[in-house]
Amino acid sequence: MQKGKALYEGKAKIIYETDDPTLVIQHFKDDATAFNGIKKGKIVGKGVANTAISSMLFELLEKNGIPTHFIRKISDDDMLVKKVRIVPVELVVRNISTGSLCKRYGVKEGLVFKSPIVECYFKNDALNDPLMNDDHILALEIAKADELSGMKQIALKINEILKVFFDSIGVNLVDFKLEFGRYQDRILLADEISPDTCRLWEKGTNRKLDKDRFRQDLGDVESTYEEMRRRIVGEKK
Ligand code: ADP
Ligand code: UDP
Repeated sequence: MQKGKALYEGKAKIIYETDDPTLVIQHFKDDATAFNGIKKGKIVGKGVANTAISSMLFELLEKNGIPTHFIRKISDDDMLVKKVRIVPVELVVRNISTGSLCKRYGVKEGLVFKSPIVECYFKNDALNDPLMNDDHILALEIAKADELSGMKQIALKINEILKVFFDSIGVNLVDFKLEFGRYQDRILLADEISPDTCRLWEKGTNRKLDKDRFRQDLGDVESTYEEMRRRIVGEKK
């Protein structure tokens, strides 16, 4: 599948047209940003690691009955996906307190919730992705009631599948962000699932194995992405 013109360049990926109007290529860059683009950098090898990780996790979800945009990995840093119209809501699922939740509600990091929290944020960089409730989403006609309840239900199912998987490789799934898109008459899981969009803590030590190493200048950033690629996907062939 040949890359056509770039349709969109975001902070971490470029979306390319293909010769099939229903498909696009998602190219994963080494560029990294944090705090809504205020902190910028490059993490050498991140594109390759996130392509491998995201492809493997989308395959795992598909096998478990989650409808996704994933078709196949087509190179070290490119994924072929169905072209969707992204629903401008970011769903965040949280199992353990950290990040913006601790700041917003004044709680300490590391509280393990009895049941997961699902939050919705308006995907709008200019507004700094504000938190929204269901009424905002319905009143502003961002999604229909059945779409919203469907996305939340799928988000919780994904949480159960990913928690079991990460547990099996010695990692706690702390929280993660999902994006969904409209494709024909269905809603598919889109975008990526990677250490850029999840918080992953090593069991026992709570060592951070995700983009917080970059956000918080914790060091070993490149080697952590490679370590996660290896833990999730296995050794390179
Ligand atoms: P951002 O826009 O936040 O800077 P990225 O750099 O990750 O994000 O850019 C990828 C963009 O492509 C995102 O806006 C994402 O919503 C969008 N996207 C993800 N999957 C698909 C898809 N299957 N079809 C069309 N757009 C997609
Ligand atoms: N997240 C993301 N993109 C965003 C905001 C959050 O992928 O634009 C992910 C983030 O990596 C974490 C989870 O969503 O796994 C919850 O993030 P939080 O709201 O705590 O964000 P922070 O403000 O701390 O980045």
